[in-house]
Amino acid sequence: LVTRQSQEELLRVLSERKHTDLRGVTNDVSLVVVSMSPQPILSLAVRYKLSPEDATKKLAGYFKSIGADIVLDMTVAEDLSLLETQQEFLQRYQEQQADPNSKHLPMLSSSCPGWVCYAEKTHGNFILPYISTTKSPQQIMGTLVKRVLAQSRQLNPSTVYHVTLMPCYDKKLEASREDFYSELLNCQDVDCVITAIELEQMLESSGKSLCEVPGAELERVWGEDEEGAGEGGAVLMGHAGSGSGGYAHHVFLHAAQQLFGETDVPVVYRNLRNPDFKELVLEKDGKEVLKVAIANGFRNIQNLVQKLKRGKSPYHYVEVMACPSGCLNGGAQVRATEAGGGRELVGALERLYAQLPRAAPARRAHALYTRWLAGRHSDKANALLHTSYHALQKSDIALNIKW
Ligand code: SF4
Repeated sequence: LVTRQSQEELLRVLSERKHTDLRGVTNDVSLVVVSMSPQPILSLAVRYKLSPEDATKKLAGYFKSIGADIVLDMTVAEDLSLLETQQEFLQRYQEQQADPNSKHLPMLSSSCPGWVCYAEKTHGNFILPYISTTKSPQQIMGTLVKRVLAQSRQLNPSTVYHVTLMPCYDKKLEASREDFYSELLNCQDVDCVITAIELEQMLESSGKSLCEVPGAELERVWGEDEEGAGEGGAVLMGHAGSGSGGYAHHVFLHAAQQLFGETDVPVVYRNLRNPDFKELVLEKDGKEVLKVAIANGFRNIQNLVQKLKRGKSPYHYVEVMACPSGCLNGGAQVRATEAGGGRELVGALERLYAQLPRAAPARRAHALYTRWLAGRHSDKANALLHTSYHALQKSDIALNIKW
């Protein structure tokens, strides 16, 4: 795998409107789409002392000023990822009940490529059956842009250049996976990943502060429910739960309701060995019937995997993230701020995330499922929103990735 995902490459493609893909095929670019994840937006908001709303608009304005045609936020892809994860968990839970010796549980989240790559490389065939097949928000966004958006505009998907703004370099590795190259469409779902740090560098090298960039609205292109969008374009929205995606939160509440009829369960985390390893437990008749955990950082991940190998993991679902404190603390988030570093900065970002208007996943995703994915649980939705994993040899790992 060789990626061409640098800032220089992005600027070159935008000026020449020509893109050479991972397989060396060059296409004219008919449409440039930028999809922004909330974590780098918040990181840059803190860096430039802007509100999340202003940072979102100014980033949209910046991308448009360098040649993007459409700038989107990723909330709707996060909605789909959460909904598919909830559904996958219910199915796995029921399958595990039917066959207690199967490997359907614990279901381990799959949205962090740092964790998935480590699992494929280090624990291979043992761990893979446990990893959720639901695609990450970045890759669901890729599917939506290259299939739904390109189709709705009657464009050849291989001429649509899709850029994402993300919190870590691992997302470049994820975007470059063969699994996310379509032979049918002749293109990768995400062509270029730019991180918060790189965005800051791009601004600095052009002598600009984000504060002085004229703002632009985010586009609404999916026909999603516009509740909460206000006047003008769409606004950045967050989900209940953590700024890493809230998977544990959503799986726990949905499963409590669907499997045990509990509609009013408090979400109170119990801290375990450290603040990056915590659990949610549902008890019925004095018995623990649902146990969900969040394991962030490699120390906790290794502990989790060792327990799993010894058959001693008590969990039904675990949200696994490679970075301590999760994606808000991603390796390519901007660090040098007056908000301090480490946990202090992450705390500030979590508070900002918690203040975003809340997205209601099922409601917003409804139009996408019905108009474009042939309904929830359809073969089309399963094919487009799920993926697979592979045990890797060390030599298979992309050592020649150019960040
Ligand atoms: Fe990237 Fe870290 Fe989030 Fe994993 S936890 S997706 S490595 S930012």
